[in-house]
Amino acid sequence: MTMIRTRIAPSPTGDPHVGTAYIALFNLCFARQHGGKFILRIEDTDQVRSTRKSEQDILAALRWLQLEWDEGPDVGGPHAPYRQSERSAIYQQHAQLLLDRGHAFRCFCTAEHLEAVRQQQLANKQQPGYDGHCLTLDADTVAKRVAAGDPSVVRMKVPREGTCVVKDLLREPVEIEWSQVDMQVLMKSDGLPTYHLANVVDDHLMEISHVIRGEEWINSAPKHLLLYDYFGWQAPVLCHMPLLRNADKSKLSKRKNPTSIGYYQRMGYVPEAVINYLGLMGWSMVDGAEKFTLAQMIANFDLSRISLGGPVFDTAKLDWLNGRYLRENLSDGEFIARYQAWAFDPQRIRSIVPLIKPRVERFADVAPLAGFFLSGMPAIQESSFSHGKLATEDMLRILQFTAWRLEDLRDWQRDALEQALVDLASKLGTRIRDFLFPLFVAIAGTAVSTSVIDSMVILGLDMARARLRHAIVVLGGLSGKQQKVLEKDYQLLMRSGASDAENAG
Ligand code: GLU
Repeated sequence: MTMIRTRIAPSPTGDPHVGTAYIALFNLCFARQHGGKFILRIEDTDQVRSTRKSEQDILAALRWLQLEWDEGPDVGGPHAPYRQSERSAIYQQHAQLLLDRGHAFRCFCTAEHLEAVRQQQLANKQQPGYDGHCLTLDADTVAKRVAAGDPSVVRMKVPREGTCVVKDLLREPVEIEWSQVDMQVLMKSDGLPTYHLANVVDDHLMEISHVIRGEEWINSAPKHLLLYDYFGWQAPVLCHMPLLRNADKSKLSKRKNPTSIGYYQRMGYVPEAVINYLGLMGWSMVDGAEKFTLAQMIANFDLSRISLGGPVFDTAKLDWLNGRYLRENLSDGEFIARYQAWAFDPQRIRSIVPLIKPRVERFADVAPLAGFFLSGMPAIQESSFSHGKLATEDMLRILQFTAWRLEDLRDWQRDALEQALVDLASKLGTRIRDFLFPLFVAIAGTAVSTSVIDSMVILGLDMARARLRHAIVVLGGLSGKQQKVLEKDYQLLMRSGASDAENAG
């Protein structure tokens, strides 16, 4: 029997996401249960959005959850390197192979041409997609244009007739017409591969036997299967997992729910409970037990028992489970040790102390000033927001606009955040002092506090946003309609005037 090898393949483009941990958990369980290997591969072919910081955070978050991998960029392994940005030559060779065999072609179409084709297709109510413009270029023309330095991409050929049958461990075979499948770009004009090529080549070279990944990738399966075919390789077994959902059943999004693992860490959830909770997403123990360890999950794991109904990531249920872990699993001594490790995490304390020290006269002053760093939502009421100049409506606007602005911030750093908020205040025509008032109350529970910008940086993006959302609710909330109106205003405002440094960059 072939060795079971599974992988998690995160793209390091943001905060470590609970969805990544969820998929990693199921890959790990499946591999462990069969005595196989679990691999971590970094898919950083998007050079613009990928950062080393994000990669480090993702690795640290998965480790915190005790999802340990056997091979990866940090631990090495027989198929190194495990970072796609270090494997460019491999993708180039493979793209060339497809070109040589006539399974791929060079495409010189400009972005303008492709956009014009798209608009035409939309106007004709056709499915948008590549129109085959460069398919018929003869070899001579292609060679000349390449020699002349004309930018080009490599696209895969896709049959225009027939159907592709996608087999998935959790579903009946799905049939997809080839005419619905786009002639996917495999190599970009900068010589870097797209996700599709790199993913298939690596899964093959890294001998991945089972691809267990989110349902959002199922539409890519025909392209991938065709690539395996073109290369003459056997495709791995596919298993597309149901996506995590918000309470309203929409796809889990940071707009409605904290999604970064760092948030759950900062809130004082314990990793055993988070893992247990993720294990309950679409899966359950045969005996229905809701509380189980990772080892128990591995021992009892059965991939075919995953149910496809979208599992709801419900923080209230996670609270309940985490509470059980704290009460039932920890002796008083262990509770103290774990609480200390959490509350006095040296990195966290180091960032808080410089804000607190200038404001205290006695140690007794520390807890009241720093308490909000160690808490969940501050205990605020509507009256906490009374202010001489701003009406409730203004505050709601400031809170909501700030929450949206935070979503667009790529760089969660002090200067970028300050710049964004100063810019937002000036666009709103509000004095920065007044503008910051509702933010202070939302974040720290009071306007008499350490710098709200520094505090937000320390608390982290998801925690800051969760507190802004909480403040909006305390102020009476926003109906769907009010949100829509505000969103329009926000879009207009952001388009007006000079854009800030970040947008320009
Ligand atoms: N890099 C992809 C992601 O971020 C991996 C998808 C896959 O597992 O094939 O989700």
